[in-house]
Amino acid sequence: MLTLYGIPINVKESLLAKVSRSEVKKEEGSQTVILDSSLPVKKLKDYAAVVFSQRLEGNSGANEIPVIHHVQGTESLSDGDVIEIFPDGRINVLYQIKSRHNLIFVTSKCDCHCIMCPQPVDENEESLTDLNLKLIPLISKETQELALTGGEPTLAGEDLFRLILVCKDFLSKTSLLLLTNGRKFSDFGYTRLFSSLRHPDITIGIPLYGDNDLEHDAVMGSKGAFNETVMGIINLASFGNQIEIRTVVHNLTYNKLLRISDFIYRNMTFVRHIAFMGLEVIDRARKNVGLLWVEPDKFVPYLEESIHYLIQRGMKVSIYNIPLCLLPDYLWGFAQKSISDWKNLFDTKCIECSVKGKCSGMFDSGIDIYRKYLKPIH
Ligand code: SF4
Repeated sequence: MLTLYGIPINVKESLLAKVSRSEVKKEEGSQTVILDSSLPVKKLKDYAAVVFSQRLEGNSGANEIPVIHHVQGTESLSDGDVIEIFPDGRINVLYQIKSRHNLIFVTSKCDCHCIMCPQPVDENEESLTDLNLKLIPLISKETQELALTGGEPTLAGEDLFRLILVCKDFLSKTSLLLLTNGRKFSDFGYTRLFSSLRHPDITIGIPLYGDNDLEHDAVMGSKGAFNETVMGIINLASFGNQIEIRTVVHNLTYNKLLRISDFIYRNMTFVRHIAFMGLEVIDRARKNVGLLWVEPDKFVPYLEESIHYLIQRGMKVSIYNIPLCLLPDYLWGFAQKSISDWKNLFDTKCIECSVKGKCSGMFDSGIDIYRKYLKPIH
């Protein structure tokens, strides 16, 4: 999540609102943070808060209006973004109207302990459901895609259903992607309830790291995960849900990709899409990088073989989060620009590269590792 910082005045509690740089209708003011406004104080009182990029000197004249000033990075904000501002001057950007990679962060809690998990867990975290229920109606109705993620979103139980229903109501044109380890769907009753929500366009993205329990559970850091995940996938399919299988390619999985692909084809021919993903080297993946990192020229032949196997059998495949110059050109057609804008970086070497416009670039957290492998294409 993109976070900006400034100096707070009169911000007594956190608040959530849409960003606008220009005056909005009076009835929309209470849901709007106005940015760098020169409106008189009398009019600013109609707004949820005011954010200034410059430092306000002396008496701001803001009276009781919540203000955050001297905020660095406001140029990254657009009209229609949704931000949460805090009494300490922090501004979390929860939704970016220009991004294709927006998400609802359901919970950081998880019932697995994946060896490469990029998400820190906060065991003391309070429910985020109320915040998310306020966030969803502020999101643009033109949003094409929205991910529901965590942690493990199904740990929110039926709160997850509430979020999906609110998305269905307010964002009727938006495709949802639920990123889950799939274990909870081994409960047939839960899957039946989930399916009864009848969201018209939701895909469930589920990881698979082996064709057997020993290998999958070792990566997921949780005994029993494989059996529950496979049962969950089958239950979801039995209700006609759209399923995407996701496999992160690293040292513990790269030479098993063909077996995993064969398992998917033989047992889950119904899945809509299979994604092979590059490693995000942050948090637990950073701590375990010695165990996880595999040289690109070592994993690419396995990736190529697996993609070839699946494509020949009519399955849809993509590559996420791997720069084009690490792949042979005949795999470029599968590579997607998949990294969220706020954590997507290119190296200085990329300036001279002719395919930069089509390339996913790298996670900002891993650029130090990827840098030495980059070969700009001329
Ligand atoms: S050099 Fe940079 S832009 Fe070009 S393919 Fe590699 S990572 Fe992508």
